[in-house]
Amino acid sequence: MDKTFGALKPHLDRIMALKAAMTLFEWDNETLAPPKAARLTSNVIGALSGEYFQAVDDEKVRELVKACQEDPGLSEAEKAQVRELSREQEKLACIPRDEYQAFARLTAESARIWQEAKEQDDFAQFAPTLEKVIDYQERFAAYRAKDGQKRYDVMLDDYEPGFTMELLDQFFAVIKQEVVPLLKAVVDSKVQIRDDFLAGDFSDAQQEKIGRFLAEYVGFDFSRGVMATSAHPFTTNLHNRDVRITTHYNDNLDSSLFSVIHETGHAVYELGIRDDLTQTLVGEGASMGMHEAQSRFFENIIGRNKSFWVPIYEKVQAAFPQTLTHIRLDQFVDAVNKVEPGLIRTEADELTYSLHVLIRYELEKELIEGQLKVSELAKAWADKYEAYLGIRPQSDREGVLQDIHWSQGSFGYFPSYALGSAFGAQLYAHMKKEMDVEGLLEEGRIDKIRAYLREHIHQYGKLKDSRKLLKDTTGEDFDPQYYVRYLREKFEELYHL
Ligand code: ZN
Repeated sequence: MDKTFGALKPHLDRIMALKAAMTLFEWDNETLAPPKAARLTSNVIGALSGEYFQAVDDEKVRELVKACQEDPGLSEAEKAQVRELSREQEKLACIPRDEYQAFARLTAESARIWQEAKEQDDFAQFAPTLEKVIDYQERFAAYRAKDGQKRYDVMLDDYEPGFTMELLDQFFAVIKQEVVPLLKAVVDSKVQIRDDFLAGDFSDAQQEKIGRFLAEYVGFDFSRGVMATSAHPFTTNLHNRDVRITTHYNDNLDSSLFSVIHETGHAVYELGIRDDLTQTLVGEGASMGMHEAQSRFFENIIGRNKSFWVPIYEKVQAAFPQTLTHIRLDQFVDAVNKVEPGLIRTEADELTYSLHVLIRYELEKELIEGQLKVSELAKAWADKYEAYLGIRPQSDREGVLQDIHWSQGSFGYFPSYALGSAFGAQLYAHMKKEMDVEGLLEEGRIDKIRAYLREHIHQYGKLKDSRKLLKDTTGEDFDPQYYVRYLREKFEELYHL
């Protein structure tokens, strides 16, 4: 270890320990904690996060970071950790502490106000709070903006470094140009795909059994991870020996099976991070988008691929005998790929999903750059759904109030969902040149696919950003054409276009 870095190391270890403690409390809150624990436990989390900010934003630590930046002897991994810490310090230093705390108090409230407005289906109840949240976010972005940088670009950079509005405008223009007409052709084709058998009264025990089987089959290691249930499935990790996923059980087989595969995709990423990087600031997925690239790759490109089910479909049939015994494999696969324009993003099929994200991207960009007022948002939302998906929400609950993100000030987060799908398609196109992906799946050798991703993506953690990972793996910069080509081929075949 470099000597200068050695002096910083105990501080980094402390920062990581505090982070792990907060993560564990968040996990516990969502899974096992009793309902009445929240208020008192939030005191514990508050104290820990105060310690965390102090540990990061400390004068001595700043000096050590500076010394490391001037020391040419640091290894690549050490340099990357210093870069991450410096980035975190910069973020904190730009924003006056009292404003930051006021914002934290506002967001603690705003999620609840959003929830109530959603329950009562009344956007007007939430609008004044949303205005305040946006106001803070705009101010923070202005503090942090570097020479002429636009506010929305500052926000985007938090989730997907290197993906500016300029690049995203091009990406979403391709989506709009290609996916909107493709969806229209699918709807106009009048091809009917039967999927009634995916809904039913499935027992939790059956779903859990098959969920654990699928997680393990895709690559979840139960000696280094656990699976619990929560209202909304998610993945979290403490280090590469402790990665946790959640699932939910319901009356929709599609949602229950594929959310496990999705979260396992996230988990496989975290489990694959190199031992020398885990438990450091670079020991996690490169970005939101690259994380979604892994989860959506396993969920959709692999999980909704007929070849994936060839070796295991009988087992799934046996788990749900009343429902699936008379359903052939190709019927099952067609059903889980059925396209149906809907109003809710989290229930969207693979084709329409990117349009839900496109709508949010256009709206939040306009909100932050001052071209759209909060008072105009609900109507703008509905207009875009009508234009791109051909359906119009009849309520705020099914429209502008459906996602929690904006209430927490997470502007710039949504694009990563669509970018992730596009990264995944680009990786898939390249992977197919190097191996017979479908053939391997049919032989049950999904481990080969995982090993490929581990070698090219997972092991690096945050050592490289998403653009560099794509470039090094595929030999090309990000290219959205792979995604639209993938969608076109798949859905033109399914809908006989
Ligand atoms: Zn995800």
